[in-house]
Amino acid sequence: MSEEAVTTDPVVHVEGVQEPARDLVVIPDRRVQLVPNIGVIGGHDAVLVVETGLGPGNAEKVLEFAADYAKGRRIYLTTTHFHPEHAFGAQVFAGEATFLLNRDQAEDLKVKGPGYLEMFKGLGKPVERRLQGVEPARPDVVYDRAYDLDLGGRVVQLRATGRAHTRGDQVVRVPDADVLFAGDLVEAGQFAIFPWFPPYDTDVSGTRWIAVMERLAAQAPRIVVPGHGEVGGAGLLADVRDYLRLLRDETWVRRDSAVDERTIVEEISALMIERHPEWVGREWIEKGVGCLCSEHAEHAEHPEHAE
Ligand SMILES: [Zn+2]
Repeated sequence: MSEEAVTTDPVVHVEGVQEPARDLVVIPDRRVQLVPNIGVIGGHDAVLVVETGLGPGNAEKVLEFAADYAKGRRIYLTTTHFHPEHAFGAQVFAGEATFLLNRDQAEDLKVKGPGYLEMFKGLGKPVERRLQGVEPARPDVVYDRAYDLDLGGRVVQLRATGRAHTRGDQVVRVPDADVLFAGDLVEAGQFAIFPWFPPYDTDVSGTRWIAVMERLAAQAPRIVVPGHGEVGGAGLLADVRDYLRLLRDETWVRRDSAVDERTIVEEISALMIERHPEWVGREWIEKGVGCLCSEHAEHAEHPEHAE
């Protein structure tokens, strides 16, 4: 997601599918903006699709791929968070799949979905076309914090992480293969996406995101599927954790010395780009600083509630 115009068509291509573990495939994002990594996880009796792609046309292709892959097995759908390229195709799965969501994400989808639909339509013609005909989708099953989904001989763990990239983030863990689908909590080769759009959306929390990454990195899964970018290992989790910690520390130390936000953004952008010259999405550094500046104010008022 970016505020700048998106000129490429965010189309999901179901070719070049990767199989990082047995009966578990990833339709890769091919590094196209507003295309997420999409997963299909199989068991004896059922398959779980993770993410829909942006809009009904993409979701139809994902469903067709999943139905073909399922070979008669039952189909479930979940999404890691409500953002349009991850979840705004779910309507296509109605009647074909059972749609599961954590409660906070279901709430995000219902409350913030319409505003995000309008905002994304403003990102350019290709995105607007993809969003034609999007209707609000309702989950069939809503859980609170944890849901174990038995696919037959394989139990998949759906876990709400608590507020971080969004209020309703969810990760999907496949314990037998040691795979974690992290959604936009983790991007590979890209600066962390802070959807910090005051006053419209201020749900993202840098400090809570750090706490979530510390927990996930400590579990050190063998394979990590990021929201965007190449599938990797536990190093992807450590990279995001370390980046967010540095972003917080560098922001707060300047805030403590009453440096103005504009100067902080300039200094930290330069520092982070020097550290990660190959990472894309540099515009998100500024959003991250903005978010952490606001959290510094909270921290200064209520230091006992830090992290
Ligand atoms: Zn997102």
